[in-house]
Amino acid sequence: MKNIYAIGVGLIGGSLCLDIKKHNPEVLIHGISRKDATLNKALELGLIDKKATLDDVYKADLVVVSIPVDATVKLLPVILDKISDTGLVVDAGSTKVDICEAVENHPKRRNFLAMHPIAGTEHSGPAAAVEGLFVGKTNIVCEVEKTTFKLQEKALKLFSDIGMRMRYMNPRDHDKHIAYVSHLSHISSFMLGKTVIEKEKNERDIFDMAGSGFASTVRLAKSSPEMWTPIFKQNKTNVIETLDEYISNLTQFKQLMEADDFESINTEMKNTNHIKDILKGIS
Ligand code: NAP
Repeated sequence: MKNIYAIGVGLIGGSLCLDIKKHNPEVLIHGISRKDATLNKALELGLIDKKATLDDVYKADLVVVSIPVDATVKLLPVILDKISDTGLVVDAGSTKVDICEAVENHPKRRNFLAMHPIAGTEHSGPAAAVEGLFVGKTNIVCEVEKTTFKLQEKALKLFSDIGMRMRYMNPRDHDKHIAYVSHLSHISSFMLGKTVIEKEKNERDIFDMAGSGFASTVRLAKSSPEMWTPIFKQNKTNVIETLDEYISNLTQFKQLMEADDFESINTEMKNTNHIKDILKGIS
């Protein structure tokens, strides 16, 4: 691969550019974004080598799409219209059903590989890009059989080289499971942040009293609403299901408190401590 086009050069796109360049110094990375200021920042930070436009993607060996999922659904067919017969297009979107459906009947469907790198932070934009973000992380690949074998191989080598392990899943299972481990966690963090901000109007007091436990629990509430709103919209049914279960657990906890049943509360927490074993090894 010689010419890589990154559409979206924020946290995920920018970090992918850094790692791909580190392992393939000979490639030329072209950046594409809506705002010129974003591209200038990406150039200044060394995430990309050159600025480009959508009209240039016919020259691409690889196009990496890392923009919000609603924009991905709209843009993917346009990119596939422009890609050469040997070019590969991958996306990094956090939902997979709508994205895969958007291109399922496209004549160039075999040039597309649907992915979701399970890595990230609460920060966004080019300045949030970090080297090594994907080392030891899982890359969920959906409908791999719909991509040309040669292009699958190229993509799998590229993403294994930057330290990722592949996990294969169909888009429906992806969206269902990711609703629990990622989408619900973000809602929980946003709403915890909201609850405390509304109650504690004096933010200085929160700051003085908040320990690392509070900070780590509300960390995800710093995430970009522009990125998360389309995710919740696309995965609405699954997210509502997770919310129903979460609200039911919260309600049950409250009822145990009201009933002074602290023995059951203790048991609930002991049972949930099992999460330590489940999460062992995840940094
Ligand atoms: P980000 O840091 O906010 O970067 C988003 C990029 O997309 C920017 O380059 C921005 O450029 C561009 N953009 C924003 N809105 C757009 C629109 N409506 N149309 C076209 N371009 C637009 O976001 P990110 O965290 O890298 O997320 C990118 C993708 O990766 C998303 O699909 C997300 O679901 C997925 N993802 C995120 C994480 C995570 O933890 N953050 C993890 C895995 C996957 P301009 O400034 O020029 O608009």
